[in-house]
Amino acid sequence: MIQNTNELKLNIRESVRSLGTYTLRRREVPIKLNQNESPLELPAALKGEVLRRVEGMAWNRYPDFHPEDVLAALGAQHGLPPEGVLIGNGSNELLQAIFQAIAGPGVRVALPVPTFTLYASMVRANGAAVEEVPLEAATLGYDVAALERIAAQGEAHLLICNPNNPTGAALPASQIEALAQATPRLVIVDEAYVHFASAEVSSEGLLGRCPNVILLRTLSKALGLAGVRFGYAAGHPAIMEEIGKLKLPYNVGHFGLEVVRATLRESSWLAPQVALLKAERGRVEAGLRALGLEVFSGQANFTLVRCRDHVALFEGLLEAGILVRDVSHYPLLARCLRITVGTPAENDAVLAGAARVLGGM
Ligand code: PMP
Repeated sequence: MIQNTNELKLNIRESVRSLGTYTLRRREVPIKLNQNESPLELPAALKGEVLRRVEGMAWNRYPDFHPEDVLAALGAQHGLPPEGVLIGNGSNELLQAIFQAIAGPGVRVALPVPTFTLYASMVRANGAAVEEVPLEAATLGYDVAALERIAAQGEAHLLICNPNNPTGAALPASQIEALAQATPRLVIVDEAYVHFASAEVSSEGLLGRCPNVILLRTLSKALGLAGVRFGYAAGHPAIMEEIGKLKLPYNVGHFGLEVVRATLRESSWLAPQVALLKAERGRVEAGLRALGLEVFSGQANFTLVRCRDHVALFEGLLEAGILVRDVSHYPLLARCLRITVGTPAENDAVLAGAARVLGGM
């Protein structure tokens, strides 16, 4: 019997072998501010309604192959027909389908860096090349001139996380539109955090005018439904038809579909939740700045800080039961931590913990 997997003839591609593994060390802490989850939940009445509906469904049957009501409602939000929408078990799954469809040897995908690390691994796993476009080092804002150059050259697809994770940088939709009009390539816009940004950031109005824009949205952030796993991609129906060939059938089950239906029926709870978290973001930023930290104001549900000693701050917060994300190894982010905005009480704990650590430094 073969004991060593090195002796097996696996055909694992070199582009896969050379990738790093995306992992997150699990730590049990009372205050978890390391994954940009919402600290708030779907209202209990809506949760109950979803559970009752799911209980009444036939679990022995596959979910809707083509849930027209969901596709039509999501499409309508972007001025698209149902055929312009693909749904997935989280938006990352649709990004993967997009890259499987477009990325291969000889293809280039331009990514502002630092950004969400999964993008580069998906591009590379499919054999395409990543073209890194560094953010402005001083402000960590997008280098618009560099993006314009890439769009004008028309050789690389562009992927923009808007607002960006982990910096919170954002571009107005008018800028995305200008980039899209300058290139025959795709401009993929991940709007996972868009609910927390100012109104001019959302590209939802562009899709009718820019056939090369694909928008990704998720329920995992502002809607507080990361555990449900639901996201979607919206774009020109002809492009979505091609990408849809790579999406696995039945990738969203009864539960995910009922949750998204509930959010489409009743969404009045969302705006107050977002308003609270935006106000808290401002309070956390101001509080951390007052403690002498360099704070990069962002438009998402987290704040990025640069410290003299990020290890001391990380460990000091952890001692206080608060887990944040150490992003100091990302390009341009030396000595930086990313802190998700939590409930007011959690944010008070962050400010108190940071004051304790910094006071003692
Ligand atoms: N896009 C970005 C930029 C993210 O940071 C995240 C969550 N970390 C997601 C998407 C979430 O994807 P999903 O819909 O798969 O939860």
